[in-house]
Formats: sequence, structure tokens, C-alpha cells
Amino acid sequence: MKSLKPILFLLITVTNGHSFASEKDKSFQEQSMLSVLYVQTSTEFAANNIQTFNNASKALDIALQDNTWTAALEQKGNFAGKIPAIIIDVDETVLDNSSFQSRTILSGLSYPNGWSKWVNESKATAVEGVYEFLHYANDNNVKIFYVTNRLESFREPTIKNLKNLGLPFDDNVNTLLMRVDENVRDKTERRKNIAENYRIVLLLGDQLTDFISTKEAYVFHSDRKKLAKKYSDMWGSKWFMITNPTYGRWELSIYDEMPESEDEAIQKRKETLNP
Ligand SMILES: [Mg+2]
Repeated sequence: MKSLKPILFLLITVTNGHSFASEKDKSFQEQSMLSVLYVQTSTEFAANNIQTFNNASKALDIALQDNTWTAALEQKGNFAGKIPAIIIDVDETVLDNSSFQSRTILSGLSYPNGWSKWVNESKATAVEGVYEFLHYANDNNVKIFYVTNRLESFREPTIKNLKNLGLPFDDNVNTLLMRVDENVRDKTERRKNIAENYRIVLLLGDQLTDFISTKEAYVFHSDRKKLAKKYSDMWGSKWFMITNPTYGRWELSIYDEMPESEDEAIQKRKETLNP
């Protein structure tokens, strides 16, 4: 049985400022180059996202006709009469931050270096297909909740970015639920709070934790992959996953122990390959 502690430790160190990458040797960051180019240049990626959001719109039609339908594991009790809502993640689901990823490759410095500067510029583009989908939901009187692990301190530039893109945003209700505690990435409580007043009809995200708890999702990759099958009834009907090949828990879950150097991380990546 693999210990989860090193993975959790890695998350904390990576997300709190530690990074292996350096300006001198850019080779570690350059390992991300093809995945970022795939996001930025391929029709395949754009088509896949349009496909996902088109299917999400069709699922929404079904969900709105059926008041016994809920997409949230956290939804309990009698919800049939509640206002329908969707929960959508922000980064790499609505906002495309691949320009930030490009910067990290060219500079050799990884997240969180430059992240704050990028967010404050409010110039992320929209993921293909999301504009049409969100307007479709909005036109059908579905409340849109943006649930993101961007820190609360980024509220203003995030709202500005969403509005600049012409995305529906309700200023009258708090529809942007951010990460209040730097150390709490789990979105379960936020979904639960929304479920108290709304019927959550769809979930959309690019990370497993946009759908389930961190407790369940933060496991070694071989166990983590089984979760896709566990929830096979949800994908494409109530849950819609945007592919993110550039970063995420999927990457951290390949390290069973905390790599102490770039070389060690690369070695672990190679060992994880299945030839
Ligand atoms: Mg995301």
C-alpha cells in the first residue's frame, strides 16, 4: 500500500512556492512544451471541448425536464422545487491559462512564479465552446456558480476576466466561490452550500476534485484511475470533464514519494511509463 503522505506533502510544496525549475536550466519546464502546444494549437483539443460543451447543453435539456435529477453527491433531501444551478470550475474549464503555461516554459520558472501577475492581467481567453454553453444555461434561467481554487485575493481580476469575455455573471448573488483557506482545496463544502438552495443539475471541471472530494481523489495514480470507472454513469450525463494535459493532480499522483530534484522527478516519470 502506497503512502499518501508524500503526495499530500508534494502538493503543499508545489503549490506553496517550491519549484524545481530554474532560469538557468529550462529543461524541466520544457517537459510541458508539447502538452501546452496541444492546448494552444490543435484543432483536436478545440473540437474536443466544443464536443463536451455541446453534449453538456443537451444534458441540461434533460436535467431541466426532470426535477428528480441532481449531479451533486452532496445534494440531499427534497430538492425537486429548488432553482436549477450548474457548478463550473474556472481555470482550464472556463478560462484558458495556457499563455501563463507558455511563459513558464520560456522563463524556466514554474507555478506559482508569475501566476499572480498573470491573473491580475485578466486576459485569459475562454475555453472553446464554454461561451455558448454558459449563455445557453443562462438563457434557460439556470444559475451559474463558478467554483474555483483561485485564492480570494484574486476575486476582482477574476470577475473582470470573466466579464471581459462576455460570460454570464450574476452580481446579485455570490456566484464566485473561491478558496478562502490557502490549505483547503476541497470543494465539497462549497458544493454542499450551493445544494442547500439550488438543485445542482450539472458539474463541469478539468480535475477530479471538481466532482468528488479530495479525500477520495488524492490517491496514487493506479487507484485514482479506478475512480473514472466507479463514476462511469456520471460522465457525459451529469458530469463533464475538460481534458487538461498541462498540469493537475493526475501528475502529482504519479509520485509515490516526494522527488527531491528535477532529475528524480524525471526519473519517476520515466519509471511510470508503460512500454
Ligand atoms: Mg481547473
